[in-house]
Amino acid sequence: MKCAAETRLSSREFGEVAAVDGVHQPSRGPWYCEYPAETMHFQHTAVMQELLPDPGADDPAGLWLVWSDDGRRELRWRQPCASRLPSDEDDEGVPCILPAGHGGRCDAQPGNAYEPNPQMQDRINDKIRSMRALETARALNCPAVSIRDGWDADAEADYARWADVDHTTCPPAALCHQAVLLLAAEDQTAFQAFVDRHLPNPTW
Ligand SMILES: [Zn+2]
Ligand SMILES: [Zn+2]
Ligand SMILES: [Zn+2]
Repeated sequence: MKCAAETRLSSREFGEVAAVDGVHQPSRGPWYCEYPAETMHFQHTAVMQELLPDPGADDPAGLWLVWSDDGRRELRWRQPCASRLPSDEDDEGVPCILPAGHGGRCDAQPGNAYEPNPQMQDRINDKIRSMRALETARALNCPAVSIRDGWDADAEADYARWADVDHTTCPPAALCHQAVLLLAAEDQTAFQAFVDRHLPNPTW
């Protein structure tokens, strides 16, 4: 259970948030306080925008709105809490969504919906496309170049080598050979059907 406090950004506040080049689509709200309901707190808080992780910096900073029931409110840059909480889905745990130095217990359950901004959505789509291409290449099981498991730099290096191979010189029975023949014939429908037959279900 989250604290029930909710607020919307004023035009001035929204302007300030929208001017930040962050990962989320700027929104006026409604915004809900991120504190768990049982945590005693005098100021409600919710993160309005976050910066892209910068490997050279400490944790990415977030622009938080801090507001209290008496009407005082302020936008403030703060670091996120560094704690991670155990998770069934992720071995590394999930991050606490409260700001650094928060009172009470840590909490990983977001109380607010965040949408990626359009540039971020493009990057996500590009990533999905390149993962799809890599997965397709892997499923085509080329006898000349195999693609290592995962989506890391090793797999990408394998994929780059795979893309350089002339698969018409691979054995005629190989899937890669058959696929490039379909591609060369510019039969996109047949190629897609062929790939779908051999592709495992997406793993992301
Ligand atoms: Zn609150
Ligand atoms: Zn925490
Ligand atoms: Zn091949």
